[in-house]
Amino acid sequence: MNEPSITPEAATPPFVSDFLRPLRGLLLVVLDTDGGLVDANRGFLDLLGNATIASATPAQMRAVFINPMLGEILARAATAENGSVIYSGRITLGAQGESESWLGQVSYRDRFILVVCEPDIDEERRLRRQLFELIDEYAAQERELARSRREIARHAAQMEQQALTDQLTGLPNRRQLDALMRSHFELAQRSGQPLATIMLDLDHFKRVNDTWGHPEGDRMLQVVATVLQANARAGDVVARWGGEEFSVLAPNTGFEGAVALAERLREAIEGMDPPKGLPTITVSAGVAVLQSGESIMDLSSRVDRALYQAKNEGRNRVVCLDEKA
Ligand code: GH3
Ligand code: MG
Ligand code: MG
Repeated sequence: MNEPSITPEAATPPFVSDFLRPLRGLLLVVLDTDGGLVDANRGFLDLLGNATIASATPAQMRAVFINPMLGEILARAATAENGSVIYSGRITLGAQGESESWLGQVSYRDRFILVVCEPDIDEERRLRRQLFELIDEYAAQERELARSRREIARHAAQMEQQALTDQLTGLPNRRQLDALMRSHFELAQRSGQPLATIMLDLDHFKRVNDTWGHPEGDRMLQVVATVLQANARAGDVVARWGGEEFSVLAPNTGFEGAVALAERLREAIEGMDPPKGLPTITVSAGVAVLQSGESIMDLSSRVDRALYQAKNEGRNRVVCLDEKA
């Protein structure tokens, strides 16, 4: 029960002390029994979005007390004994559309209602720990993602390399040779430098397969590939055209150089040590040098004809149908 000695006119509100007034981490509020704002510190005024106590409206006061509601606080105050605590615990306050959870106490004294709120430190600590855990987890996932990206890039490069490489011999395959041919062709056209191509076909290779079996034929193809590559120059491209046919792309190489290179390759195959238990083998080669105004198709059909002629003339030889420049 209210003390009868204190009349509303005589009551002096318990103002917020000056040294607590600027605090923002604590909320200190003095209300009258109608819910009007009598005094508050900076923290509570910030919550209201108000600069001054005088500008606080009844609607703002109702909106700020979500739980317990302002009406409930006033109702309890109406029947409370002077000096008693009318609420203690979690206090939910509305702050410009958001709601905030505080820990606090509401008490009634001398016809005024005093509200004191502090942050829920345990909850804050829990949230901070959770935040740090999430940050760690995020960093770990970022690392994992970066690792996956590197792995994918490595795989893609590997697949790309596989798609361009002949599996049996490790030489560039026809697909890669076609691409290199196009770029060297364009380069030769622009620079005017000569470009030669050599097509090599193993002689009577079918006999190797027929007599010693396909796996032995494969071994022979691997050795031939190694010998061809070892006897070409650094800038030459030695590729497996398919089956027992190989192709050499020789940039910056004219008629004489190309024929000499083909002859060297032919001799190297003839003179090589065949894989254990297999016979010696020979190769026929056609040579063609890019003529001005010629297309890639023209060049390859000429090199094919040269190879065909080398076979017809008895194999194990080099033929070039081009005019000696
Ligand atoms: P020619 O002197 O006229 O070229 O006679 P050839 O026997 O070499 O030619 P032909 O075209 O009759 O036979 C080529 C053989 O090459 C037939 C095929 O079995 C063999 N061959 C093609 N690709 C492979 C391969 O990857 N591995 C093996 N072991 N043999 C292959
Ligand atoms: Mg062939
Ligand atoms: Mg052959």
